[in-house]
Amino acid sequence: MKTINLNNDTVKQYGEVLQKLVPSCFRAYTLLTPDQRKNIRESTDKLCKVHDQYYLLKETPTLKMVISETYNFIFDKVNGDFKRWGKSFKDDPQMAPFPEILDIEVTTQCCGIPNKDGVKAPCQFCYKSNTPTGVNMTFENFQKVIDSFPFLCQIAIGADSEANSNPDLWKMMEYTRSKGIVPNITVANITDDTADKLAKYCGAVAVSRYPNKDICYNSIEKLTNRGMKQINIHILVSEETYDMCLETLNDAKTDTRLKGLNAIVLLSLKKKGRGKGYHSLSIDKFKALVDYALQNKVNIGFDSCSCHKFLESVKDSPDKARFEMVSESCESSVFSSYCDVNSNYYPCSFCEGEAEWAEGLSIAQSDNFIKDIWFNKKTNEFRKKLFNNNRKCPMFDI
Ligand code: SF4
Repeated sequence: MKTINLNNDTVKQYGEVLQKLVPSCFRAYTLLTPDQRKNIRESTDKLCKVHDQYYLLKETPTLKMVISETYNFIFDKVNGDFKRWGKSFKDDPQMAPFPEILDIEVTTQCCGIPNKDGVKAPCQFCYKSNTPTGVNMTFENFQKVIDSFPFLCQIAIGADSEANSNPDLWKMMEYTRSKGIVPNITVANITDDTADKLAKYCGAVAVSRYPNKDICYNSIEKLTNRGMKQINIHILVSEETYDMCLETLNDAKTDTRLKGLNAIVLLSLKKKGRGKGYHSLSIDKFKALVDYALQNKVNIGFDSCSCHKFLESVKDSPDKARFEMVSESCESSVFSSYCDVNSNYYPCSFCEGEAEWAEGLSIAQSDNFIKDIWFNKKTNEFRKKLFNNNRKCPMFDI
């Protein structure tokens, strides 16, 4: 896939194409704030073509816009706000011509978290089954993967609990920023030094909640004390972790270490790795968690795997329409993608090693991600299965 940098010469060459995009540009501009409109005059512009359709990228240090006749978005790199629409604002595109988000695993080495005796031990429900023996992605492979994607907005880095297994992690984040992409990460137990670095590079940081809540809440406090606004708790939702979920929702209101917390993100159980023996939470209990959060005004979010369960639990709410507007079902192979530590593509991190995704597609061996991977027969088939399932998980019983 060819990307064209727009300058005086190429603007002339692609004049007709750009002319066609003028109405879409005007529509997009109506969504910008006065400051953003001023900024966008200084944008760097690129064009790319996917399946006979041209996409115009306009980018500034704080904003990313993609404009076309059928698929458009505005991404605010500062606060993460993302708006997507199609031909008109009423159209909701079924999929993106290129991934907006990449979930990328940079290490499978993880020392776990301290247990009640202070000894570090592997986390009980890690779906990756990671241990201290694992491998790191090299910086060169990371670069190659990032460069394969045309117009990425954000990446979610899959690392270890302490963000120190891969010695190139900070270099990777710096590279990501240099490409105008926002790096995000999930951690659990961090030092002050790590918190400094996360605050320097990341848009959002999620801190996983395990039975020892102090590890999580202390890490949250370190990050919010450094002025970070997009700090979330990630918590597994299952029968076994239900009480811990309720406790966390309650603590969000009472524990001063969480005063700068953005939201508690509830993650549905996928029976995989060390989470295999856990049990999915019944819809009644799931609804009880949602109701508790809404009644007590605790900010919550979900993984897209939970979307249908969430919408079911708010179906009688007076705010149902608003909830539907801000909910996105499974977006694997539709808007987002996953790359494992060996530079292989899978629709999402849970698909890796499952059924038809026993093996992934090599990003390292491809010179054209869009053709070889995003529109590969295997990816198209997964996408079809997902659409035929009303974008409910085609791999796991959520
Ligand atoms: S395929 Fe299933 S596990 Fe993967 S993101 Fe979609 S809903 Fe979640």
